[in-house]
Amino acid sequence: MECPRCLLTLQSTQYENQDVDMCGNCWGYWLKRSQLESIVNDAIYQFNKSEQKAVEKGFFMDGDVDRQGQEARAITCPVCQGVLERKKFHTHCPVRIDECSEHGIWLDTGEIKDLQIFIEKHLKNS
Ligand SMILES: [Zn+2]
Ligand SMILES: [Zn+2]
Repeated sequence: MECPRCLLTLQSTQYENQDVDMCGNCWGYWLKRSQLESIVNDAIYQFNKSEQKAVEKGFFMDGDVDRQGQEARAITCPVCQGVLERKKFHTHCPVRIDECSEHGIWLDTGEIKDLQIFIEKHLKNS
C-alpha cells in the first residue's frame, strides 16, 4: 500500500500493540477503526502536561484546513483508491480523521496523539 499523501510504500509497524502501517516520510498512520478504538481506549501511553498543552493548542477543529493551515486536500484510500471522507472521529470528539468506510482510517502525523489526549481528558469517566 502507498501513503495517500506521499505515494511512498507504507511500512508495517506497531503502535501500542496494534499492527498498523506507517509512512516513514510524513509519519502518517493507516489503520482500522477497531484498532484505533482500542488504542484510544487502552491509553497505554500517559502524556505529560506539556505534551497535553501542545496538543490542545494545535487542536484542529476546522475541517477545511489542515494542520499547516493549508486547504485540506482530498486524499484517497490506499486499498480501493476511493476518496477518504474527512470527518470527526465520533460525535463527541472534534479531532478530524480521514476514513474509508470499507478499509480504514488515515491519520496525519500528530492526529493519533490528538485523539488519545482528547479522549483521555474529555471522554473518559464521563
Ligand atoms: Zn507519507
Ligand atoms: Zn477503501
